[in-house]
Amino acid sequence: MLDRIVLASNNPGKLREFDALFKPLGIELVPQGALGVSEADEPHVTFIENALAKARHASAATGLPALADDSGLCVAALHGAPGVYSARYASLVGKTKSDAANNAHLIEQLAAHPGAGERTACYYCALALVRRADDPLPIIAEGRWDGQIIDLARGTHGFGYDPHFFIPALGQTAAELSPDVKNEVSHRARALRQLIEKLGQTT
Ligand code: IMP
Repeated sequence: MLDRIVLASNNPGKLREFDALFKPLGIELVPQGALGVSEADEPHVTFIENALAKARHASAATGLPALADDSGLCVAALHGAPGVYSARYASLVGKTKSDAANNAHLIEQLAAHPGAGERTACYYCALALVRRADDPLPIIAEGRWDGQIIDLARGTHGFGYDPHFFIPALGQTAAELSPDVKNEVSHRARALRQLIEKLGQTT
């Protein structure tokens, strides 16, 4: 039954990353844009609820099983912000929607929290796979990547908050890691591995 899944994203990078793991299982992933599916709303305050809403939306529109992800950065001293607003953190205060503006806003918010212990953060990724739009048993997977926010940007790889996301265990920011290394250890990689493991147990 799970031989063709619609991916509730049109991001080519994600399609490549996800496809590499699904292909060996004989599962074809089709981006929702190729099937004329519109972007779903993301009205919820948790990543899991948003991932599920996106998966249900894509499945309802296509009649196919659907996979969606939702991810972002959570900073402890900011009570989990930027959280589900990670992509548009700066625009919440009327600034441009860009990585540079988001990073500047984050560092500004953390100015009152200079201690290393206050800089604890994690990237988080939720994945939701539904077999039907009304599937009562969605497969949910999550991945978490722990680090610390540093004021000075380091590194040129990656995107988003990567230049400020320092991983003590590696002694580097996410933007200093090569894409291959990041794709092995990131929140998304962890969530995907968990999803594949759960798929193996349920199909
Ligand atoms: P999305 O769920 O992939 O669209 O990501 C939402 C937002 O979270 C992105 O626009 C980034 O701001 C942030 N984010 C998620 N994953 C990463 C990452 O691996 N590096 C940097 N920022 C990320």
